[in-house]
Amino acid sequence: MKRIKGMAKKIRASARGEACTLLVHGVHKQTPDNDTVVLCHSPFAQSGVGAKADELDSCYGCDACHSWLDSRTHAHEPRRIKETVFKVAKLVTHCRLEEKFEMPLDKIAEKL
Ligand SMILES: [Zn+2]
Repeated sequence: MKRIKGMAKKIRASARGEACTLLVHGVHKQTPDNDTVVLCHSPFAQSGVGAKADELDSCYGCDACHSWLDSRTHAHEPRRIKETVFKVAKLVTHCRLEEKFEMPLDKIAEKL
């Protein structure tokens, strides 16, 4: 499978206008047109120092939920809860990516 130049950028750009998948109770903030939603990378990735988390180890999240996930807010929340919420959000995001790019996730990964 041929890699596509800019595929990582396309995946990040795909978050524009998407609905938040984290939907953290009491934290999530719905905004018109989902205008704060971005691709949130896993804060749990076992990557090396300075290495960027895999583009697909991510989910669509609004600014409030993103801050919760990265512990810029709610730092007291147990890690296992954040990990569980992130896992579900990532699965939903992967389904949306498969629809958007009209290919299974493994094919999307091969193009990165
Ligand atoms: Zn949210």
